[in-house]
Amino acid sequence: MATVDIATLDPEATVVVATGNAHKLTEIQTILSESPALEGVRFVALGELGSFEDPDENGETFYDNALIKAQAALDETGLSMAVADDSGLCVDALGGDPGIHSARWAGEHGNDAANNDKMLAEMANVPDGERTARFHSTVVFISRDEDGEEILAGNGDCEGTIARDLRGTNGFGYDPLFELADIPGKRMAELEPEEKNAISHRRRALDDLVKKLG
Ligand code: IMP
Repeated sequence: MATVDIATLDPEATVVVATGNAHKLTEIQTILSESPALEGVRFVALGELGSFEDPDENGETFYDNALIKAQAALDETGLSMAVADDSGLCVDALGGDPGIHSARWAGEHGNDAANNDKMLAEMANVPDGERTARFHSTVVFISRDEDGEEILAGNGDCEGTIARDLRGTNGFGYDPLFELADIPGKRMAELEPEEKNAISHRRRALDDLVKKLG
């Protein structure tokens, strides 16, 4: 159900955010508004403009998939600026997996409990010194006009290790398994939302994008 009528928006001063997640919208809006290039611009979530089918995220990298989501948001809305992110957990002992497959690693999209069980099983025999991993996020911003598209991307990582049990109830996804390199002994799922937002891969990717936006 659309809550914002696209016809009422100024295409030159609106960024559509390709997410259905209200927390991500707030985080993206707060950080990108720091860029003078986006001063006075309004951010709207794609979901506020109608129900659109999710594009096929069939890229081979985080960048590819973020770009697919941002371009689909422009195609669907006819607006001229969009931002989208793609993120996941990359584990060194698993050759970078689950990576872009993080959300549906155990089969069903977004089944965090099944994904964490699979991670515990796959990592059971990996020694302590070899359990390094990182959350990665790529955020893509597109500005489209009759001459083509300008594409900017920001990247961010948050380093840590994969624990041998689950701890903490905050956050989502692999957070209960992820022990932070910067705060030894602390799991991502034990951080308050503001603490996580200050150091997260998404925060770092958005900060990187703000620098590139100028
Ligand atoms: P998305 O691209 O942000 O939707 O993330 C894809 C998947 O990566 C999620 O379903 C989670 O499994 C994992 N992931 C991404 N960011 C995080 C995070 O901050 N904590 C835990 N898991 C995450």
